[in-house]
Amino acid sequence: MATGKINVSVENIFPLIKKFLYSDHEIFLRELVSNATDATLKLKHLTSIGEAKVEFQNPFIEIKIDKEGKKIHIIDQGVGMTQEEVQKYINEIAFSGAEEFLDKYKDAAKDSGIIGHFGLGFYSAFMVAEKVEIISKSYTDAPAAHWTCDGSPNFTLVEGEKETRGTEIILHVAEDSTEFLEESKIGGLLSKYNKFMPIPIKFGTKTE
Ligand code: ADP
Ligand code: MG
Repeated sequence: MATGKINVSVENIFPLIKKFLYSDHEIFLRELVSNATDATLKLKHLTSIGEAKVEFQNPFIEIKIDKEGKKIHIIDQGVGMTQEEVQKYINEIAFSGAEEFLDKYKDAAKDSGIIGHFGLGFYSAFMVAEKVEIISKSYTDAPAAHWTCDGSPNFTLVEGEKETRGTEIILHVAEDSTEFLEESKIGGLLSKYNKFMPIPIKFGTKTE
């Protein structure tokens, strides 16, 4: 097990992210679905060049709402991440993106389109979630990783339970964002942002 402090100088970056991008909370879904899509396409590529020797048939991305548990799950069958990769890509790199973002846009972060350019994509999850979990199993033999972060820069990273390849992101939806637990809301966002995506998205009984 590893615990630690994410490398960031801003003590509590998430409320800032939330405040700056107040009007556009909904982009979290686009960002997480685009990460799931990237991960799936990466695995497709690795498979095609013989780098990954895994079954790769009709992968899809699944979105599940757990209304009672106040959770949204975004599940892909992509490359996945090892614990080392979560440490590198989530704890270190994504946060340097967040710092850069804050530096640049402290005064006027109005245009939500900029968020993706700073590797802030994943952290947009905290616009609607008070706690986020990543449970991921790499396409390699490495054991699964389980990362949890409650919106402060403190995270935990332990070995996870997941047996199947890919990544599951669990959003523990914050009190002020419960509208995103409505099927109609998520369904609407998917057809707004994620129509014609290269990897099909399964949501409820529908596949976009
Ligand atoms: P970007 O997508 O611009 O690289 P993000 O903040 O959205 O930035 O994601 C940071 C990194 O975390 C990604 O580059 C990728 O390495 C890793 N990552 C995020 N989501 C997933 C996922 N679902 N599967 C595998 N890796 C992921
Ligand atoms: Mg991204």
